[in-house]
Amino acid sequence: MTVQHVILDRDGVLNVEATGGWVLRVQDWRWQEAALEALAILSPGRTLSVATNQSCIGRGLVDAAVIEAVHTRMCAEAAAGGAPFAGVHCCAHSPEEGCRCRKPEPGLLLQAVGASGIPPEHTVFVGDSEGDLQAARRAEVTPVLVRTGKGRDTESSSAATGVAVFDDLLSFAHFLRRGGTLSPSAGRVGTQ
Ligand SMILES: [Mg+2]
Ligand SMILES: [Zn+2]
Repeated sequence: MTVQHVILDRDGVLNVEATGGWVLRVQDWRWQEAALEALAILSPGRTLSVATNQSCIGRGLVDAAVIEAVHTRMCAEAAAGGAPFAGVHCCAHSPEEGCRCRKPEPGLLLQAVGASGIPPEHTVFVGDSEGDLQAARRAEVTPVLVRTGKGRDTESSSAATGVAVFDDLLSFAHFLRRGGTLSPSAGRVGTQ
Protein backbone atom coordinates (compact mmCIF):
# COMPACT_ATOMS: atom_id res chain seq x y z
CA MET A 1 0.00 0.00 0.00
CA THR A 2 1.03 3.59 -0.54
CA VAL A 3 0.70 5.52 2.70
CA GLN A 4 -1.06 8.81 1.92
CA HIS A 5 -2.48 9.57 5.35
CA VAL A 6 -0.75 9.04 8.68
CA ILE A 7 -3.01 9.32 11.71
CA LEU A 8 -1.04 9.62 14.94
CA ASP A 9 -1.95 8.81 18.51
CA ARG A 10 -0.77 11.62 20.77
CA ASP A 11 0.37 10.47 24.23
CA GLY A 12 3.30 8.06 24.01
CA VAL A 13 3.74 8.63 20.26
CA LEU A 14 4.08 12.39 19.75
CA ASN A 15 4.64 13.47 23.35
CA VAL A 16 5.93 11.97 26.56
CA GLU A 17 3.13 10.94 28.87
CA ALA A 18 3.09 13.27 31.85
CA THR A 19 3.42 12.07 35.43
CA GLY A 20 -0.05 10.90 36.40
CA GLY A 21 -0.92 10.21 32.79
CA TRP A 22 -2.34 13.45 31.47
CA VAL A 23 -0.90 16.68 30.16
CA LEU A 24 -3.04 19.15 32.10
CA ARG A 25 -1.05 22.35 31.45
CA VAL A 26 0.34 23.72 28.20
CA GLN A 27 3.80 24.06 29.75
CA ASP A 28 3.86 20.33 30.58
CA TRP A 29 3.88 19.34 26.90
CA ARG A 30 7.08 17.48 25.99
CA TRP A 31 7.70 16.05 22.51
CA GLN A 32 9.04 12.52 22.25
CA GLU A 33 12.68 12.61 21.24
CA ALA A 34 12.93 13.11 17.46
CA ALA A 35 9.14 13.20 16.99
CA LEU A 36 9.37 16.57 15.22
CA GLU A 37 12.13 15.24 12.97
CA ALA A 38 9.93 12.23 12.18
CA LEU A 39 6.94 14.43 11.33
CA ALA A 40 9.07 16.50 8.97
CA ILE A 41 10.02 13.32 7.11
CA LEU A 42 6.47 11.96 7.04
CA SER A 43 4.75 15.17 5.98
CA PRO A 44 5.78 15.84 2.36
CA GLY A 45 3.16 14.31 0.08
CA ARG A 46 1.09 12.95 2.95
CA THR A 47 -1.73 14.12 5.18
CA LEU A 48 -1.04 14.02 8.93
CA SER A 49 -3.80 13.86 11.54
CA VAL A 50 -3.94 13.28 15.30
CA ALA A 51 -6.46 11.06 17.11
CA THR A 52 -6.34 11.22 20.90
CA ASN A 53 -8.42 10.12 23.90
CA GLN A 54 -8.50 12.90 26.49
CA SER A 55 -10.88 11.58 29.12
CA CYS A 56 -9.23 14.03 31.54
CA ILE A 57 -11.89 16.45 30.22
CA GLY A 58 -14.83 14.13 30.80
CA ARG A 59 -13.45 13.18 34.21
CA GLY A 60 -13.47 16.85 35.20
CA LEU A 61 -9.71 17.06 35.70
CA VAL A 62 -9.19 19.88 33.23
CA ASP A 63 -11.17 22.35 31.16
CA ALA A 64 -11.60 21.55 27.48
CA ALA A 65 -10.12 24.97 26.66
CA VAL A 66 -6.81 23.96 28.26
CA ILE A 67 -6.59 20.85 26.09
CA GLU A 68 -7.39 23.02 23.07
CA ALA A 69 -4.51 25.27 24.07
CA VAL A 70 -2.22 22.23 24.37
CA HIS A 71 -3.22 21.25 20.84
CA THR A 72 -2.72 24.77 19.56
CA ARG A 73 0.86 24.59 20.84
CA MET A 74 1.35 21.10 19.38
CA CYS A 75 0.03 22.18 15.97
CA ALA A 76 2.10 25.37 15.92
CA GLU A 77 5.35 23.57 16.75
CA ALA A 78 4.68 20.80 14.21
CA ALA A 79 3.84 23.35 11.52
CA ALA A 80 6.97 25.35 12.34
CA GLY A 81 8.92 22.15 11.77
CA GLY A 82 7.38 21.72 8.33
CA ALA A 83 4.66 19.24 9.30
CA PRO A 84 1.22 20.84 9.59
CA PHE A 85 -1.57 18.66 10.98
CA ALA A 86 -4.73 18.51 8.85
CA GLY A 87 -6.80 17.86 11.95
CA VAL A 88 -6.74 16.97 15.63
CA HIS A 89 -9.55 14.60 16.56
CA CYS A 90 -10.06 14.42 20.31
CA CYS A 91 -12.44 12.34 22.41
CA ALA A 92 -13.25 14.28 25.56
CA HIS A 93 -15.58 11.64 27.04
CA SER A 94 -15.07 9.54 30.13
CA PRO A 95 -15.20 5.76 29.64
CA GLU A 96 -18.58 5.62 31.41
CA GLU A 97 -20.21 7.77 28.74
CA GLY A 98 -20.03 4.92 26.25
CA CYS A 99 -19.33 7.17 23.26
CA ARG A 100 -18.43 5.92 19.80
CA CYS A 101 -15.26 7.99 19.50
CA ARG A 102 -13.16 6.84 22.44
CA LYS A 103 -10.56 4.36 21.24
CA PRO A 104 -10.78 1.31 20.98
CA GLU A 105 -13.99 2.45 19.28
CA PRO A 106 -13.26 3.55 15.71
CA GLY A 107 -15.07 6.91 15.76
CA LEU A 108 -12.03 9.20 16.00
CA LEU A 109 -10.27 7.40 13.17
CA LEU A 110 -13.40 7.45 11.02
CA GLN A 111 -13.56 11.21 11.61
CA ALA A 112 -9.96 11.62 10.52
CA VAL A 113 -10.44 9.45 7.44
CA GLY A 114 -13.62 11.27 6.47
CA ALA A 115 -12.04 14.69 6.86
CA SER A 116 -9.00 13.70 4.81
CA GLY A 117 -10.82 12.40 1.73
CA ILE A 118 -8.14 9.67 1.55
CA PRO A 119 -9.38 6.07 1.46
CA PRO A 120 -8.73 3.94 4.55
CA GLU A 121 -6.66 1.50 2.50
CA HIS A 122 -4.07 4.27 2.08
CA THR A 123 -4.21 5.22 5.75
CA VAL A 124 -2.19 4.06 8.75
CA PHE A 125 -2.74 4.71 12.43
CA VAL A 126 0.41 4.87 14.54
CA GLY A 127 -0.24 4.09 18.19
CA ASP A 128 1.31 2.67 21.35
CA SER A 129 -1.63 0.94 23.07
CA GLU A 130 -3.83 -2.09 22.47
CA GLY A 131 -6.80 0.25 22.12
CA ASP A 132 -5.03 2.03 19.27
CA LEU A 133 -4.50 -1.23 17.39
CA GLN A 134 -8.11 -2.29 17.94
CA ALA A 135 -9.44 1.07 16.79
CA ALA A 136 -7.33 0.86 13.64
CA ARG A 137 -8.72 -2.56 12.77
CA ARG A 138 -12.30 -1.44 13.41
CA ALA A 139 -11.80 1.61 11.20
CA GLU A 140 -10.17 -0.62 8.55
CA VAL A 141 -6.95 1.37 8.50
CA THR A 142 -3.54 -0.29 8.87
CA PRO A 143 -2.25 -0.36 12.46
CA VAL A 144 1.37 0.52 13.20
CA LEU A 145 2.89 0.08 16.67
CA VAL A 146 5.75 2.10 18.10
CA ARG A 147 7.77 1.06 21.16
CA THR A 148 7.58 4.47 22.83
CA GLY A 149 4.97 5.16 25.54
CA LYS A 150 3.10 1.93 26.33
CA GLY A 151 4.42 0.33 23.15
CA ARG A 152 6.80 -2.20 24.64
CA ASP A 153 4.04 -3.66 26.83
CA THR A 154 1.61 -3.60 23.92
CA GLU A 155 4.05 -5.47 21.71
CA SER A 156 3.72 -8.60 23.86
CA SER A 157 -0.10 -8.56 23.75
CA SER A 158 -2.21 -10.56 21.32
CA ALA A 159 -3.50 -7.30 19.83
CA ALA A 160 -0.06 -6.78 18.30
CA THR A 161 -0.06 -10.04 16.33
CA GLY A 162 0.86 -9.33 12.74
CA VAL A 163 1.30 -5.60 13.32
CA ALA A 164 4.41 -3.78 12.06
CA VAL A 165 6.46 -2.53 15.04
CA PHE A 166 9.05 0.27 15.07
CA ASP A 167 11.27 1.61 17.85
CA ASP A 168 9.75 5.06 17.54
CA LEU A 169 8.07 7.41 15.09
CA LEU A 170 11.42 8.34 13.57
CA SER A 171 12.25 4.75 12.65
CA PHE A 172 8.80 4.40 11.03
CA ALA A 173 9.43 7.62 9.07
CA HIS A 174 12.81 6.32 7.90
CA PHE A 175 11.16 3.03 6.87
CA LEU A 176 8.65 4.86 4.65
CA ARG A 177 11.35 7.13 3.24
CA ARG A 178 13.36 4.07 2.23
CA GLY A 179 10.32 2.84 0.30
CA GLY A 180 9.17 0.28 2.85
CA THR A 181 5.64 -0.98 2.40
CA LEU A 182 2.98 -2.31 4.77
CA SER A 183 0.43 -4.99 4.04
CA PRO A 184 -3.00 -3.39 4.41
CA SER A 185 -4.67 -6.46 5.92
CA ALA A 186 -2.64 -7.18 9.01
CA GLY A 187 -0.15 -4.34 9.06
CA ARG A 188 2.72 -6.69 8.31
CA VAL A 189 5.99 -5.33 7.09
CA GLY A 190 6.54 -6.01 3.41
CA THR A 191 9.63 -5.32 1.36
CA GLN A 192 12.18 -2.99 2.85
MG1 LIG B 1 -0.96 6.59 23.47
ZN1 LIG C 1 -15.77 10.10 22.81
